[in-house]
Amino acid sequence: MGMVRYKMEKRIIDQKIRGMKKYKLWREKVFAEGYGVCEKCGLGGERCQAHHKIKLGVIILENNIKCVEEALNCEAVWDINNGMVLCSDCHMEEHYG
Ligand SMILES: [Zn+2]
Ligand SMILES: [Zn+2]
Repeated sequence: MGMVRYKMEKRIIDQKIRGMKKYKLWREKVFAEGYGVCEKCGLGGERCQAHHKIKLGVIILENNIKCVEEALNCEAVWDINNGMVLCSDCHMEEHYG
């Protein structure tokens, strides 16, 4: 498989993972672990999001995940310890700051 094509499929798998029920559960567990407040500034509430310490795209690449079934069976994708709660501002900072 060519690299360009794999990059495209990686994006699709990334989106598919985020649409999964299991992903919704992952987010809920990350929120529960972090008491639903931003790990950096302590802000709580609606604006909090689950952040991947190791990007989902990197996990997909490193584990050579090529389909949804492989994603489902990959422990790293569903590791609660790879998640943290960040408010939208700290989240932006983390990605683009
Ligand atoms: Zn914050
Ligand atoms: Zn993030």
